[in-house]
Amino acid sequence: MRLDKYLANMKVGSRKEVHKLLKEKRVLVDGQVVLSAKMQLAENANVQVDGKDISYQQYHYFLINKPQGVISATNDPKQKTVLSLLKEEDQYRNLAPVGRLDKDTTGFLLITNNGDLAHQLLSPKKHVEKVYEATVAGMVTAQTIKNFAQGIEMRNGTKFKPGKLELIDQDAEKGTSNVRITISEGKYHQIKRMFLSQSMEVLRLHRLAMGDFWLDESLDFGQYREVSEDEIKEHF
Ligand code: URA
Repeated sequence: MRLDKYLANMKVGSRKEVHKLLKEKRVLVDGQVVLSAKMQLAENANVQVDGKDISYQQYHYFLINKPQGVISATNDPKQKTVLSLLKEEDQYRNLAPVGRLDKDTTGFLLITNNGDLAHQLLSPKKHVEKVYEATVAGMVTAQTIKNFAQGIEMRNGTKFKPGKLELIDQDAEKGTSNVRITISEGKYHQIKRMFLSQSMEVLRLHRLAMGDFWLDESLDFGQYREVSEDEIKEHF
């Protein structure tokens, strides 16, 4: 990687600021002053700025409030992906979303290049609960809540583990219900299919949390923030 890109990635400063640091001879690579921004860094080069080591951060984590209309894939020839919403300086190699949200689903989505963590969080053994808010067409009743609590079996034999369904409010005129739903699995279109089994259509789906890690209220659709390794450890 080019030295200026590396330093910008390490958040030492913008490219412009990094170029200034280089000009001022404040950057050492393996103990030697380097002036060229274009220098290609060796894999285990020691980089210092003002005498301080710039240690390489292997893993990066971002929490995005996924907007509608983007897909949770790493790349796609036709459709806009959630990764394309990251700024250029955050486009690290091997970043991928942790699990998938449907194109029309919004909310909590972690993006990381730590494949092991992603694998762990998605493993059924880990039972990480996901909390969603939904608007559905239909009147959720005590029976619907009970059915979700018992686990749902689709006509084709697919089984969904018990989910916690909570009614927030209803609009009798429109015939819709706002609900909160907590599930521990992440099967394809799971919530939409669970409601379909009750003859209800999901009109809006928004993920609020994974485990005890909640989406920041300050993040608008499409906005994201970097998450530290410590924060990840604290939650998972
Ligand atoms: N369940 C769904 O049906 N869709 C999602 O995007 C997430 C959970």
